[in-house]
Amino acid sequence: MAKAKQVLILGGGFGGLTSANLIRKGLQEEECQITVIDKHQYFMMGLVNLWILSGSRILEHSRVALNKLEAKGIRFLNDEITSIDHTENAITTKMNNNKLRYDYLIVALGSELAPKRIEGFEDNDECCFNVYDTQQIPSLRQRILALKSGRVVVCIADIPYKCPPAPYEISLLINDILIKNGTRESIDLSMYVPTPISLPAAGVKVSQDVVKLLNDNHIKFYPNHKLKRVSDKKTIEFENGNKTRYDLLILVPPHQLPQVIRNSGLLEDADQRWVNADRFTLRTKYSNVFAIGDVTEIRIDNAITVPKAGIFAEGEAKAVSQQIINEIKNSNDDKERTKFDGRGFCFMEIGDKKAGYIDVDLYNEAGPTTNLEPPSYEFYQKKLDFERSRLDEWLM
Ligand SMILES: Cc1cc2nc3c(=O)[nH]c(=O)nc-3n(C[C@H](O)[C@H](O)[C@H](O)COP(=O)(O)OP(=O)(O)OC[C@H]3O[C@@H](n4cnc5c(N)ncnc54)[C@H](O)[C@@H]3O)c2cc1C
Repeated sequence: MAKAKQVLILGGGFGGLTSANLIRKGLQEEECQITVIDKHQYFMMGLVNLWILSGSRILEHSRVALNKLEAKGIRFLNDEITSIDHTENAITTKMNNNKLRYDYLIVALGSELAPKRIEGFEDNDECCFNVYDTQQIPSLRQRILALKSGRVVVCIADIPYKCPPAPYEISLLINDILIKNGTRESIDLSMYVPTPISLPAAGVKVSQDVVKLLNDNHIKFYPNHKLKRVSDKKTIEFENGNKTRYDLLILVPPHQLPQVIRNSGLLEDADQRWVNADRFTLRTKYSNVFAIGDVTEIRIDNAITVPKAGIFAEGEAKAVSQQIINEIKNSNDDKERTKFDGRGFCFMEIGDKKAGYIDVDLYNEAGPTTNLEPPSYEFYQKKLDFERSRLDEWLM
């Protein structure tokens, strides 16, 4: 029998866990050995940050150990990837400092948060919070509860960022916390975003629906405000010259490609911000190397790209897994499933156990379609199930 192929999966997040599980289900261990490498020991879904903020979850109840993969016949290496070498088909990690070779490589390392790129942000840590940093959320929640009056500003620093609806959910959840805390009437809540509409990838109609949700909850919305700097006088300045004061600044920081990919030869030139991959197959310029999820930039048209969201990382992982299974088995099975279809969905949680539901078809031949279903208890339940079902599938 031929030697087992080596599949290395860089990153045990949304895309990495989907592909590891699907490939394992499709191939025997004698056909293929799968190794997932992640610098963290645990997986936690990004959307749980919102439940920690709203007080319905704590961090300790939300993380699952990645070494549970081992029981499924998937090797897990808890280490930091320090280099990727396509000429030798190998990667290097920090602790082992030895090379791991691959026949197939799936790069699913996500995006890094870069709050340092905002001048003055980290100098004002008393009242400035990075709301995408899980560690900061418990103290942010305490600050929101302690605030009796003033201005809360939710600001998206730059695009692209993970989960485009999440900052809007965050504003609506803060509104809900303040109402329950009896302080909403004395606190101004505003959102500043760099884009001309709230959700460019979802189009004008859904964007208007989202702004209506904000306005119905007395949250002010300021489009076309790209953050320039945070000053020490509790003021932020925007590139359009406007300034605004805050008592509490809640920031979605700039995102960037992990440095290890920047040095990997996967980018065409120094200006390229994200990895280019084929929109259907997710193959990079190296035919045995796939890039999925937040590391990629997949253009739909001049204005929009596939959003950085777990649901798309998952869809891309499904397409990649089927291609690898077919190649190793030398078969033509499930041909349709070898292509990413550009479909996805996400939620718009508003508090009080209610969420809206956004349906997306990005590769529609007549142009992308999206639709926002109004918030309901049923969609909130669907969101809870979204997390539960995936954890069961990937790590139980
Ligand atoms: C507040 C919030 C709410 C969200 N809500 C939703 C939602 O409702 N629906 C949705 O679909 N998406 C949501 N997302 C987005 C979603 O979490 C990401 O888009 C998704 O996780 C991307 O998957 P990925 O596989 O590309 O990367 P990730 O899931 O980020 O995984 C990347 C992994 O790579 C590891 N890694 C990085 N560099 C290295 C290295 N050098 N060495 C070793 N390991 C490394 C990281 O530790 C990480 O585990 C949300 C995100 C946030 C922050």
